[in-house]
Amino acid sequence: MINWLRRLVYYHVMEEADSTIEKCLILADFFIDCALKSKIIICFARCCIFLWAMCLHLSAAGQSPEALAMMRNGLINVQDADPNIVVKLMYAEADNFVGESMYGTLREAMLQPEAAEKLTVASNNLKKKHPRYSMIVYDAARPRKIQQIMWNKVKGTPKSRYVSSPKRISMHSYGVAVDVSLLDENGLPLDMGTPVDYLGELAEPRREQEFLKSGKLTRKQIDNRLLLRNIMKNAGFRSISNEWWHFEACTREEAQRKYLPVDFF
Ligand SMILES: [Zn+2]
Repeated sequence: MINWLRRLVYYHVMEEADSTIEKCLILADFFIDCALKSKIIICFARCCIFLWAMCLHLSAAGQSPEALAMMRNGLINVQDADPNIVVKLMYAEADNFVGESMYGTLREAMLQPEAAEKLTVASNNLKKKHPRYSMIVYDAARPRKIQQIMWNKVKGTPKSRYVSSPKRISMHSYGVAVDVSLLDENGLPLDMGTPVDYLGELAEPRREQEFLKSGKLTRKQIDNRLLLRNIMKNAGFRSISNEWWHFEACTREEAQRKYLPVDFF
């Protein structure tokens, strides 16, 4: 860069000046010109930074403080990734197994970018197969403090096997797990045989065939679960054997290696 500048100055001066004074004047003129140009460049850079800051401000407008805190840690709002995805966080309302709202003002489903990207693929594939159906997210990134509250509620009861101990950090706390279902053309949840977050055996995919035979689940309910599972698995998610609504975007080892748990609120 310096050599390039030297060469530029040399040719500029030597080609156009005859006397030493004239050379000095041309040289001074050259540096004044450079200074003015650099001011223009600085001014242009400042405008770019200002516009970028405005874009950031506008994209953050309307987001809850909890969502903004997660965004600063690299998570993204799934509805920013795909506005077709419906979000209704079950732990932001009192109608959940704990019986109280635990999410403060958080109403956004936040995920690590790789999980949000896979969910967008799943949503697009659903729209191709059933254009009037939509995905609904009931839970996504879950701070560890909330996991502790949930654990305290079920600890020592048979329901404890449906809730991760805070010692073994939940995949939700890494921002890579999502609780989802499907909405029909009227915006109503498809019948999956149990409500989401039903803490009982009827929610377990591993026992679906047994419950089909005993009549506790219908063929249609199982087909609806299979539709959800296929859509999610084809997008790269992994299912689990005891909750039909829970899916993970990577293995626990990968999550531990790549991410810190969501640990603020
Ligand atoms: Zn879950």
